[in-house]
Amino acid sequence: MAVLWIFSETTASTKELLGLGRELISAVGGSITVLMGPDGEGREEWAAYGADEIILLPPLADGLAMEAHIPVIAAAAAEEKPDIILLPATARGREMAPRLAQRLDTGLCSNCVAVRWSGGDIEMDRVVYGGAAIQTVKFLTRPVMATVAPKTFSPPVPEEGRSARLRELPPLAAGTVPGVRIVEKREKRRLARDLTQAKVVVAAGRGLEKKEDLALVEEVASLVGGEVGCTRPLSEELHWLPTELCIGLSGVSVKPDLYIGVGVSGQVQHMTGVRGAKVIAAVNRDENAPIFAQADLGIVGDLYEALPKLITALKK
Ligand SMILES: Cc1cc2nc3c(=O)[nH]c(=O)nc-3n(C[C@H](O)[C@H](O)[C@H](O)COP(=O)(O)OP(=O)(O)OC[C@H]3O[C@@H](n4cnc5c(N)ncnc54)[C@H](O)[C@@H]3O)c2cc1C
Repeated sequence: MAVLWIFSETTASTKELLGLGRELISAVGGSITVLMGPDGEGREEWAAYGADEIILLPPLADGLAMEAHIPVIAAAAAEEKPDIILLPATARGREMAPRLAQRLDTGLCSNCVAVRWSGGDIEMDRVVYGGAAIQTVKFLTRPVMATVAPKTFSPPVPEEGRSARLRELPPLAAGTVPGVRIVEKREKRRLARDLTQAKVVVAAGRGLEKKEDLALVEEVASLVGGEVGCTRPLSEELHWLPTELCIGLSGVSVKPDLYIGVGVSGQVQHMTGVRGAKVIAAVNRDENAPIFAQADLGIVGDLYEALPKLITALKK
């Protein structure tokens, strides 16, 4: 039997963590608790997705960030001793998890991509060296803690009619110093669409000769209902596209159904951001380009010949 806690930040990540949680609990028995904000909005949904218990975190005073919940969660975990605590590998989850692990004096597997039971212990995999290797870690301490990369696990099929116990945690003890206070919130000016949600990504690489040629890549993307991304040289060196569109180690990780690399060599720093794509396709004139080692489909040829043909075919 195992007790698993999930910190709920976004709807999508909570469903994915419940998918993983149910997989783990179904193997050994036990229960899943979701810790969420004080308003409890949408908590009925978590029961259907597999939560057995919902814990509402206490309201925060004005100007306090979610991180101020850390001492409250740590105190509850120290007392109740869950076996596993999962957080999403979002900016907030990555910020909170190590601090929580430190307070609980336990280990943390960050950005975990696989979890399994192994002889009564939990084993986790994480991507290291910019995607060049997978590291497997086994926990020596309890609770087992991990941040889980978005879109790594599928949400479970909801079961209507399930219910979950509800309780609240007490507020921060008087005199607890929260650590940070929000001074100001400003909306971030986005220069590009959010690539991480795209179903199809067409990535432009250094194989393009001039900025105007991006029109070819944009046309392919629009014909297949996709978004344009790029390699780092196009955003950082040539400044043809905003940095938000750079895919890879220093950019975003995408998980589309289809990724098409056009004039992309396929260096590890780029491909690490493509790891989650279901199908990888490439157009490159060099048959030895590294991208072909990872591609499911490929065209060895000049992009200036291949793309116009592809566009004509897609229009038909
Ligand atoms: C610390 C670090 C972090 C990095 N982070 C990132 C990152 O996040 N994202 C990233 O993308 N890169 C990153 N890089 C850079 C990375 O190592 C590569 O240099 C980069 O990905 C190469 O981009 P590219 O494939 O567009 O260019 P190139 O490697 O120059 O490849 C161009 C390709 O186009 C092909 N080509 C040329 N002309 C044509 C044509 N007419 N038709 C068809 N094919 C053609 C060539 O055969 C070649 O394979 C990082 C590097 C470092 C050191």
